[in-house]
Amino acid sequence: MRSMRIYLDYAATTPVDESVKKVMEPFLSGLFGNAGSLHVYGQEASSALDLSREKVANLIGAGFREIIFTGSATEANNLAIRGAVKKAGSKHGLSKPKIIISAIEHESVLETARDLARESGAEIAILQVDKEGFVNPNELEKLLDKNTVLVSVMYANNEVGSVEPIKEIAAAIKKFKNETGVYPLLHTDAVQAFQYLPCNVADLGVDLMTISSHKIYGPKGVGALYVKNISAGIDPIITGGGQEFGLRSGTENIAGIVGFASAAEIAAGIREKENERVERLRNLFYEKIKSSLREAELNGPNLSSPGRLPNNLNIYFPRSKADELLIACSTQGIAVSAGSACQSRSSAPSHVLRAMYGNDERAIGSLRITFGRGTTGKEIDTATGTIIKIIGEKSNPSTRFAISGQTRT
Ligand code: PLP
Repeated sequence: MRSMRIYLDYAATTPVDESVKKVMEPFLSGLFGNAGSLHVYGQEASSALDLSREKVANLIGAGFREIIFTGSATEANNLAIRGAVKKAGSKHGLSKPKIIISAIEHESVLETARDLARESGAEIAILQVDKEGFVNPNELEKLLDKNTVLVSVMYANNEVGSVEPIKEIAAAIKKFKNETGVYPLLHTDAVQAFQYLPCNVADLGVDLMTISSHKIYGPKGVGALYVKNISAGIDPIITGGGQEFGLRSGTENIAGIVGFASAAEIAAGIREKENERVERLRNLFYEKIKSSLREAELNGPNLSSPGRLPNNLNIYFPRSKADELLIACSTQGIAVSAGSACQSRSSAPSHVLRAMYGNDERAIGSLRITFGRGTTGKEIDTATGTIIKIIGEKSNPSTRFAISGQTRT
């Protein structure tokens, strides 16, 4: 008999939707052509690629030629940032371009910016966040200057679910453009947002936007970058056969791209209904935890705030060690996370919680629990019961971190 398993780590990745699998299948067998070939096999692949591009473009209000498929969101973030810096050098001759990023970006943005600072002398300015994980557009205005080529602020954070004020950021950049004639591009990483929030690029006012397939019930290994007015803003970072309008060479992953486009359509179609459902389950989970573990505290925006993703929970358990809790949960079949999936490979405490609270204690004792399409009420009951028991067993009876309704000796 298979032991019980409950997956509560939907921000790390999602299973591939059954109907997505079905639309991909023909492209893994009979329809295997290279989209660059002129014969019928190539034409079949190329039509599937065109159709997928059109679908993704329509879903975000972009033009057909503004969607660049990549091998991941990490690659899309690299293309946006490195591509903008490269263009600034090649087109405007800027020797020390400046990039502004928020303090809570995903590693694929943070590390890329750091690498550019080391390798090409770019200046990196960090936009700090408040205790709920929000950037302040007024603070951005202070950082913008004539060397700024790119501002990159994520649409929604992967650890605490804070939804950043992208429209206000776009307005601040526009104001700066009007006053100075300098045109910094605005990039947003919408990887965690796409399933839950409207992502129309014109409404948001962004020039570049990253999305990922495997966070929205599509296959792994596919991402996309929206690039406004494609030839203007960025240079390629992968060169070769000139695929993807010259911005990302390499034979296209047709099965993956077809699956991604299908997953994106489904995600956008069920957005509102699914938001309500996961939000209800997420709130129930927190209520149950709080009613037994009074000292537990929420990290990030209020649960009733529209500024928080509906599927995200991040809880601080004072005096606990998240990695120990995580292992204990895993032993009981419950999959949660101590931060982002990438970070769990290193023992460093979450840079997001550190940026929000200014200390490591909070970062060390917090768990991220994220809900998704497979989450049920029964899972919430079982998972909360197990976590409450684990914390109860780990906590020192002499502390105030006792289980209410239970006598601890
Ligand atoms: N950006 C954010 C906000 C993420 O959460 C992730 C994945 O965890 C990525 C980028 C990287 O996505 P991918 O796994 O497609 O490279």
